[in-house]
Amino acid sequence: MQFIEALKLRSKLLFIFIIITIGLVIIGFIGAINLNSMKKNLDSLYFGSLIPVIELNAMLQIYNGDLSSVIHKAKNSEISNNEVKLQINTAIAAINNEWKRYESHFKRDDELQYIEYTSQEIKTTNNYFIKIISSMESGNDMRYVSITNLENKITHIHKIINKLISYEVTIAKYERKNFLKVYDSIMKEVGLILLMIIFGVLVISYQVFKSIQRDQTALEITTKKLKRANKKLENVSYTDSLTGLYNRRYFNLIYDRELKRARRTHSYITFMMLDIDYFKQYNDTYGHIEGDFALKSVAKVLNDTLKRPGDFIFRLGGEEFGVLLAETSESNSATIARNICDAVRGREIKHENSKVNKFLTISVGVACCIADEALDEEVLITRADEMLYKSKDGGRDTYSITTNVSHARPQKIKDEDTA
Ligand code: GH3
Ligand code: MG
Ligand code: MG
Repeated sequence: MQFIEALKLRSKLLFIFIIITIGLVIIGFIGAINLNSMKKNLDSLYFGSLIPVIELNAMLQIYNGDLSSVIHKAKNSEISNNEVKLQINTAIAAINNEWKRYESHFKRDDELQYIEYTSQEIKTTNNYFIKIISSMESGNDMRYVSITNLENKITHIHKIINKLISYEVTIAKYERKNFLKVYDSIMKEVGLILLMIIFGVLVISYQVFKSIQRDQTALEITTKKLKRANKKLENVSYTDSLTGLYNRRYFNLIYDRELKRARRTHSYITFMMLDIDYFKQYNDTYGHIEGDFALKSVAKVLNDTLKRPGDFIFRLGGEEFGVLLAETSESNSATIARNICDAVRGREIKHENSKVNKFLTISVGVACCIADEALDEEVLITRADEMLYKSKDGGRDTYSITTNVSHARPQKIKDEDTA
């Protein structure tokens, strides 16, 4: 059931919804088919072989057939006296048996009287045949048995039993009609109840579905909000609050990532360390608040100078900044460093106590190389730091660049070039 796993929550609910509906419809169909076949069975049971008419018909058969023919055969001396006696006794026993069986069925009160009457008539008719046996045994000739009398007896009992048969058939028809009526109304009720259940299940499922959907929507909104809040929090945790630049925490993350990428693609990587010149004196002269403004101004210069998507600017701490450039050649890196120095100075932020210039200046150390597998993580930073000290030692307000970075490939420009 992997496909269920792959479904979204809404689709899963819809799936359950459809399965329940199909299940209920199938149950309904199977129920209807079964009830219908049950109806047929009951109907045929009731109106078919089991109704008592069979027993009555069997009795008629014996009177009309077996007994009549025995008498006729006896009259014509076709069978022996013993045979006559045996056949009559067997026929009467069979009639009594059928009658007993008939009487054992459920009887309505209104037919009891007629049944009693029929029972008497059967006994009388049977006695007539028993008397024939007695007479025969007393030595009377069978030839003198009256056929008219015999036929009258048979016709009489025939009429009586036939009346009972037509009564039973009428009752059976009536009961069948009743049964079908009851069956139809039960079917209607069952169908209605089933429909109501299906409808109820659908309504409840729909409500549950809607409620879960609402919950899910609320969850989605909350998740989105949470994601946005997380993003904000992440941004805050990666941003320096004073300058809006990335902070050292983000530097640690990005530096590693960018270095790996440069190593993988064997492309240029440049790291710059920037430090405001005589910033302590600046703070001492103009106060800490002005110092903060100066830091923001330098940040703005860096933002304005470095606009490519692959450029990252960090405030690494105090009045120190870091710049990470991807795919920038040594000459371009040098130009950028020079431009930064010029732009900071060009903002003409007064710095009377600076020993370099009457305006605020910055010193820059640059390490640039084409990265390869041999490039060490720390060395780029160390070399940029060394270059920064070189710029400081060289009189500040300048940049120094090196391409001599560990085993990384040698660069075209002359190593440790100072502007
Ligand atoms: P150098 O030219 O050698 O770099 O000397 P410097 O005075 O710039 O360097 P130093 O490390 O001696 O002093 C750095 C000063 O930067 C000290 C500190 O008061 C100031 N500073 C650090 N962080 C902040 C800040 O967030 N706001 C302000 N206004 N000043 C800061
Ligand atoms: Mg410093
Ligand atoms: Mg400084």
